[in-house]
Amino acid sequence: MMRAALPVASALLVAACSMPRPGSVGPSLPSDPEDRSMRLEELHDRVRAPGLDDRRFTAEQWWSIVEPSLGGAVTSEEIGRSAEGRPLRLLRFGTGGTTVLLWSQMHGDESTASMALADLIRWFDEDAETDPVLGEIARGASVYMIPILNPDGAARFQRRNAQGVDVNRDARRLQTPEGRALEATVTRLDPDFGFNLHDQDPAIRVGRSDRQAAIALLAPAFNEARDVDDKRLRAMQVSSLLVEAMTPLVGDHIAKYDDAFNPRAFGDLVGAWGASTILIESGGWADDPQKQHLRRTNFVGLVTALHAIANRRWGDYDAAVYDSLPFNGRRLPDLLVAGGTLALPGMPALRGDLLIDYDRPLLREGGRISDVGDLEGVAAQDTLDATGLYLIPFGDALDERGALQVGRPARFLLTEDSAGTRVRLRFDGSPRGR
Ligand SMILES: [Zn+2]
Repeated sequence: MMRAALPVASALLVAACSMPRPGSVGPSLPSDPEDRSMRLEELHDRVRAPGLDDRRFTAEQWWSIVEPSLGGAVTSEEIGRSAEGRPLRLLRFGTGGTTVLLWSQMHGDESTASMALADLIRWFDEDAETDPVLGEIARGASVYMIPILNPDGAARFQRRNAQGVDVNRDARRLQTPEGRALEATVTRLDPDFGFNLHDQDPAIRVGRSDRQAAIALLAPAFNEARDVDDKRLRAMQVSSLLVEAMTPLVGDHIAKYDDAFNPRAFGDLVGAWGASTILIESGGWADDPQKQHLRRTNFVGLVTALHAIANRRWGDYDAAVYDSLPFNGRRLPDLLVAGGTLALPGMPALRGDLLIDYDRPLLREGGRISDVGDLEGVAAQDTLDATGLYLIPFGDALDERGALQVGRPARFLLTEDSAGTRVRLRFDGSPRGR
């Protein structure tokens, strides 16, 4: 992405101020979004927690990486145990009057924000005494975090907890230990702002466009009528701030999440309990299977938001920026194999396209057949041109009678001849197989 060069005047200003260490954000955050983003990306390069390059990690791994940053400016307390007995911990940075609560990975396989929180905690610990921007945050806000609220789900890299329950549909009944720990913390802290940090299906598009939604934001409704009171308006303003902060990193790949009220979901209920709550969903970004670019985008957005909350500048933002975002749109299928001839054992060959969705879309693994037939004109994330070639399904792509079945693993040879001797590509759940 092209960036405007740092204006000479502000570069001189930065040089003239006493800089405690290279890479500090201070003396204050630039107001120009591009400049600010550049500065925060440099910061991120320095404080980025090591050992989280793969988005699949356990809570134990995460805590072992973060543990050295605790006990100083960032304090820690246990607030409960998961269904399988893993500790749930609440971290705190800052002593200011505005209380902020962030929680991540309530869904065990949604780890992007947990990586960004590790980076944030490292910055809090390392620069608490030296970075003026961090000083402003610490004086203006008390920042609380519950990282990896669903550690049992994280251990399996699955959405639900060990009891098989979606913790984010347990806000009303409070039957899961994870849901109870969050509810008790919200009741105790009575936060002014809440950040509910998730990942969404990377195949979702922005509105009616073909653009992948990198980020979706929501200032959730607190009742069926979707009324906007002062607290929801503040959440909308902070969401507008996030749009501005994240645009330098993801452009117009930002959508608005569906705002129907869900009384079983925590984001909605925390809002109903009185906090200005913001949902951040990290979706997909091209060639970013481990979501490292979106981790950075979360970091930049959260630093900007915490700073504006601490110095009460969130009021400068117009809720209309958030409000005018297109909603999350359709989800594009992962792969279209177009133009080939299907050769099934003992059946007449036919002109047939295949649509494939991956169980692990970011890695393009675990492909399953989702449609067969005339799929000309169907939009997909990727297209494989099979014109002039034969598709010969094999293995469990076929049922016991040798018929091709939707829902089964996508396994086929792409060949130049119907006999299947001249193989161009072997697709074995993944296009990489050759
Ligand atoms: Zn989620």
